[in-house]
Amino acid sequence: MLKGYVPPYNATVVQKLLDQGALLMGKTNLDEFAMGSGSTDGIFGPVKNPWSYSKQYREKRKQKSHGENEDSDWLITGGSSGGSAAAVSAFTCFAALGSDTGGSTRNPAAHCGVVGLKPSYGLVSRHGLIPLVNSMDVPGTLTRCVDDAATVLGILAGHDPKDSTTIQDPVKPFTLPSLTDVSKLCIGIPKEYLTPALSSEVRSLWSKAANLFESEGAKVIEVSLPHTSYSIVCYHVLCTSEVASNMARFDGLEYGHRCDTDVSTEAMYAATRREGFNDVVRERILSGNFFLLKENYENYFVKAQKVRRLIARDFVNVFNSGVDVLLTPTTLSEAVPHTEFIREDNRTRSAQNDIFTQAVNMAGLPAVSVPMALSSQGLPIGLQFIGRAFCDQQLLTVAKWFE
Ligand code: GLN
Repeated sequence: MLKGYVPPYNATVVQKLLDQGALLMGKTNLDEFAMGSGSTDGIFGPVKNPWSYSKQYREKRKQKSHGENEDSDWLITGGSSGGSAAAVSAFTCFAALGSDTGGSTRNPAAHCGVVGLKPSYGLVSRHGLIPLVNSMDVPGTLTRCVDDAATVLGILAGHDPKDSTTIQDPVKPFTLPSLTDVSKLCIGIPKEYLTPALSSEVRSLWSKAANLFESEGAKVIEVSLPHTSYSIVCYHVLCTSEVASNMARFDGLEYGHRCDTDVSTEAMYAATRREGFNDVVRERILSGNFFLLKENYENYFVKAQKVRRLIARDFVNVFNSGVDVLLTPTTLSEAVPHTEFIREDNRTRSAQNDIFTQAVNMAGLPAVSVPMALSSQGLPIGLQFIGRAFCDQQLLTVAKWFE
């Protein structure tokens, strides 16, 4: 839809980086309109995970196929900001931006062995970011380490008159201490996140990480986020409804693609949108319009908004009980090969993979995925820390101690 489109102004995040003298190397690939969890559904083709070519992983693959015919499969990066994660992971740049609506910086960060930060909603301006779900979108960062994430966040954060949801208070730079005493911290482990779909390796690294905090004197407690099981379906209703409304602007008149049909204005709209959007985007527009129908609105959209509030309240309750930071997996497993990702029902799988990340966006909280270790296959596994709203500094401090 936006092929060849050159925006007439810079997004606030881009302008802020330029103002600080950053060198912008280019735009990175992603799922179309940031809808997806694999970076396999972009107009430029799928993003390949640089770890696909690591010596250790290639050798393991070879052993598995008993040395028979050279294996041409590669790993997905996760998504939707997979191009940004791959660019940082392959050492082509210092940092990259992503947009995180349901996990799109954290998910590819975990799969590519880099740090993926989703700041608190309202800390970073969305002006110039193409909206997916306005009430959940946050520009995020992908970096090689937590200190770099803090540096970039310090540049991006702050009030923007062009985004009325940004905080009014001045933001201090994010400088992280080199030594942190974690013994006074209380780390919460949400029991609902121990789902059967979680791979055994991620599960054991998660408990290893919890033990590490405990051995340093931190209090590690099990907590409950009782509405977790509703989060994926709730996100689906809210996301598709906002998508249906947001995508209405792409009508062939003002932006990007326009079809050749000139039979009627309606036919032009329809053909433009049929040609310009991929299946994922069209499917979400259809679902969203269904949820927004007069007869469905109360039962779906309004109900989902209520459930969203319950999900957000779960976090508030946990933080009010004295927990400083939550420790969770980022993804269900390490990165999977492309053929495997597209073999199963890609979209169902995508949705399941967001189980640990989406609720955070519905609650507007800051969260960061940090690489923990390599799996037995030689692939990175990341863990996620979730902080209190606007306690991004504390969150990053804990993440830095951990990395
Ligand atoms: N995977 C989620 C989706 O497709 C999240 C995407 C995102 O954070 N941009 O909606």
